[in-house]
Amino acid sequence: MAREFRKGTDLIKSTAENKGGKRKFTKNIYWKNGDVRTVAFVTAASDIPKVRLHTFVRIPDDRMESGFRYDTFLCRKDPSMVDETGGVCPLCDDVEHEATEKFMALAIELEATKEGKKVKELKVKYDTVKRDDGTEVEYPRWGVITQGAKNFFSYFAAYDEMSGDIREVAWEIQREGDSVGTKYHPFEVKAALPDLTEVIENMPELEDLLDEMGSDEKYSQVGELEAGSQPSFGGRKNSDSGTAPTGERASEFSKFREEVVGSY
Ligand SMILES: [Zn+2]
Repeated sequence: MAREFRKGTDLIKSTAENKGGKRKFTKNIYWKNGDVRTVAFVTAASDIPKVRLHTFVRIPDDRMESGFRYDTFLCRKDPSMVDETGGVCPLCDDVEHEATEKFMALAIELEATKEGKKVKELKVKYDTVKRDDGTEVEYPRWGVITQGAKNFFSYFAAYDEMSGDIREVAWEIQREGDSVGTKYHPFEVKAALPDLTEVIENMPELEDLLDEMGSDEKYSQVGELEAGSQPSFGGRKNSDSGTAPTGERASEFSKFREEVVGSY
């Protein structure tokens, strides 16, 4: 069923005031305090949807040393889902996990070769994943950037309006700060984008990822969760300051990253 997501740079501006037999994970690109990443957007600014999400849902998982992992769900109260679900969301209603409104864009992470501060060359960044049989496979590091409008996407919405398509250039994005004071500093990279055609051809569509994030299959994992089982990341309500937990949760967070990156 085709869903209508809430899209558009106007919306961003107005708000600114796993594969095979394995369970599917949503691959994310995110920044911890101090991280600098170079990315190419795959989603046009005008196609970036606003979505109601459950991020950092703690799911028991025996394969993890910690016994659990974090996953992201499309809230079943998202306007795109209400027709199907009647506005009933087990994560909101039963598990009492707090949903937040975010914007999402697909992006590919790039590796920048620099001479001094100047970027000389950009290449697609790859992760090497070891299979059970010991062989290694390389995966391009693409993922979903899930952020708020105010401290992240509003800049790109403005760029789209003033300067052009955000997909035509590479972006070096720095994160500064934690929690409420988090700032993202985007810099347009003055070097040619590598050819992304092949990577993009092998990526899913954002809307398919969202469908999957709200699917019955995905939500079948929620049934086993109990009310009060979910950690509260700083207790921020309707936060617009990014998805990363802070402070002592950073180590949990970096584990989460490895799990996400290594498992698709
Ligand atoms: Zn929900």
